[in-house]
Amino acid sequence: MSSARGNTQSSEPSRAAAPAAERPAGRAMLRDIVAYDTDRAPSPLELGDNTNPFGAPPSALRAVRGAPEDDLFRYPGYASAETRRLLAAYAGVRPDEIITGCGSDDVLESTFAALAEPGEAVAYSEPTFSMIPPFIRLGGLVPVPVAFTATHDIDADALLATKARIIYVCTPNNPTGTEASRRAVERVLEQAPGIVVIDEAYAEFAEHRYMPLAAAHGRLVVTRTMSKAWGMAGMRFGYGAAAPALIAEIEKVRGPYRVSALTERAVVAALTHDADWTRHTVRRTTELRERLALEMRTRGLAPLPSAANFVLVPMAGAPAVAAHMREHGVVIRGYRALPGIGDALRISVGTDPEIDAVMRAFDAARAATGG
Ligand code: PMP
Repeated sequence: MSSARGNTQSSEPSRAAAPAAERPAGRAMLRDIVAYDTDRAPSPLELGDNTNPFGAPPSALRAVRGAPEDDLFRYPGYASAETRRLLAAYAGVRPDEIITGCGSDDVLESTFAALAEPGEAVAYSEPTFSMIPPFIRLGGLVPVPVAFTATHDIDADALLATKARIIYVCTPNNPTGTEASRRAVERVLEQAPGIVVIDEAYAEFAEHRYMPLAAAHGRLVVTRTMSKAWGMAGMRFGYGAAAPALIAEIEKVRGPYRVSALTERAVVAALTHDADWTRHTVRRTTELRERLALEMRTRGLAPLPSAANFVLVPMAGAPAVAAHMREHGVVIRGYRALPGIGDALRISVGTDPEIDAVMRAFDAARAATGG
């Protein structure tokens, strides 16, 4: 194919633009990547994002309302040392073992790009968090999906057999809600040839947590978020823990000023004053999760055992059910043909009245769609 530059040198201006039009504007690898659907048309009942059904920590809200003008017109950074100190105390690591970012998305994407050479593999159990394959590709790396076991555990042997430079483990996993067994995770940690990334976005709801192991392991990065149990998805704050040598490399990719002053102010307030609030909402959410699962079981369905703040319900025709519910003001996720599972609904845990409403909408959708 002749280049655009070649044609602009020709004497026929009418042909000059054609080759430029042939070349897509984006990088070739972006052709296979579907942009995350951020359609946020307001809905009366939003149970599609696994956020905290009880809202935001009161101290964070107060901190944002009382924020000084400096937070808006100066570059941020006033509290980053304090933020890392509080996170380290909360997570059981040292401040120099913490990295922060604009959501744990930011930390995960930076981690993949920082710790592997282009063309190297990242193995993970599928289905998992939908942004993981795109993040892997954006880092120039190759996604290598591996099946879960029949009991929804990670298959440590299969993950290790890939010999991937990075093994990504999401536990509890999104969208299944299931938690990996400690034995399987420890086998991966002991035998992985390269880096292990554990995504603990739902750590607060889980039995096992791995962040305190990160630094001593040396080749382990564990990420978490303030978006889920901590009720601050709109503030966009995530963090990771790893040995300081790894943190230094990831920081080069992540770049500066990813966390706004307002966000940092809210996070510091929440960690300082609202650990009890968060613990309490986590306890209530797990009780409500069991109610939601029971509602589904009484309707003859078999939700997967969840260690998170949402429930996955395998069910043929789930996308049509979810679409019907959305039309009637209830947003949940409907998946088509998840590997090893099939069609399924993912419903975030809501308050009691919200579960009442979601079940009414579900029953109506099921009747209407024949699901
Ligand atoms: N990891 C998992 C498993 C998730 O489910 C999510 C959000 N849905 C994230 C990471 C990213 O969350 P955030 O960027 O809000 O921290």
